[in-house]
Amino acid sequence: MTLNVGVIGVGMIGQDHIRRLTQVLSGARVVAVTDVDLNRAKAVAGELAGARIHENGQDLIGDDDVDAVIVASWGPTHEEYVLACIAAGKQVFCEKPLATTREACERILDAETKAGRRLVMVGFMRRYDDGYRAMKDTIARGDIGAPLMFHSAHRNATVPGHYVSDMIVNDTCVHDVDIARFLLDTEIVAARVVKPRRNSNAADHLTDPLFLLFETADGAIVDVEASINIQFGYDIRGEVVGESGTVELAESAAVLVKRAGGYAGRIPEDWRERFVRAYDRELQEWVDAATAGRSTGPSSWDGYAATVVCDSALAALRSGERVEVSLREQPELYR
Ligand code: NAP
Repeated sequence: MTLNVGVIGVGMIGQDHIRRLTQVLSGARVVAVTDVDLNRAKAVAGELAGARIHENGQDLIGDDDVDAVIVASWGPTHEEYVLACIAAGKQVFCEKPLATTREACERILDAETKAGRRLVMVGFMRRYDDGYRAMKDTIARGDIGAPLMFHSAHRNATVPGHYVSDMIVNDTCVHDVDIARFLLDTEIVAARVVKPRRNSNAADHLTDPLFLLFETADGAIVDVEASINIQFGYDIRGEVVGESGTVELAESAAVLVKRAGGYAGRIPEDWRERFVRAYDRELQEWVDAATAGRSTGPSSWDGYAATVVCDSALAALRSGERVEVSLREQPELYR
């Protein structure tokens, strides 16, 4: 059986997911697209055999030919479309963030809990990266003892012109927050943010770098270095320190070249290159699960927790104080 997918928002990542579904993965076809920029939707649909263009996301979700939906529009629009998918009983893959406010995420949790089954997967693709998966397996086997600390570094070469300081937390570090919860298998309960000396490569309106410090429910510490104008490439680092050992991500280069008294390996240009296989695996697992009528992967709860933790980190950035994270009680559906 082939899963008929509708895509809401065909900007950068929407188009990348369409490429994936049509050229890389199996078991799905894109039958409908929409975008606030209808000309862009038309251009994208023109490359797809038989894909319909809808005026808006609600019409696409209501299309009987659409079995499942990808939401890849601008973050503030996610809530409306995810709620509509839940109401229609359709599986939805929602790019991060699940929604941009705690209240919006809670409305999604309420709707999905009322529906009585999981319908939402959130696009935290790092969970599908071989390196992070091997780290998680190492920790779960008890090879390094109980995890005490997680050091994470998120370094972007540059950021686009529309990037504002809050996005360092909401858009960039949200991935580190999610992967910390995944690796350590616990919730984050408090946040602090420290501002190191400014990077002179950063635009004047940006506070770059930032150093985020999180406490987890079982007393571990997570630190995240976010550098968004590091120039040399996209460099993602992660190390968990346990009671009797450590586990860390290896360098991501496929080969090292040794010559002329030195050695070198390629550093990815951006997240698309670094996590290409993770995105493929993430979406294939969603297609397979949606085809079988079930949900998989990061849940609405994970999306909610990430949004609330990032809100607390932003409050900590503004106040300079330690800010507690308060999550509602976790519904049975997500345990
Ligand atoms: P983008 O290039 O700006 O694409 C978003 C697209 O959605 C644009 O075409 C936009 O149109 C359209 N759009 C906005 N509001 C809409 C609405 N109400 N209905 C339908 N379409 C609408 O942004 P992007 O980089 O692809 O990001 C899209 C989402 O993916 C964001 O939530 C982002 O955080 C997420 N993302 C995730 C990752 C990841 O690593 N998992 C990476 C990148 C992006 P206009 O341009 O006309 O506004």
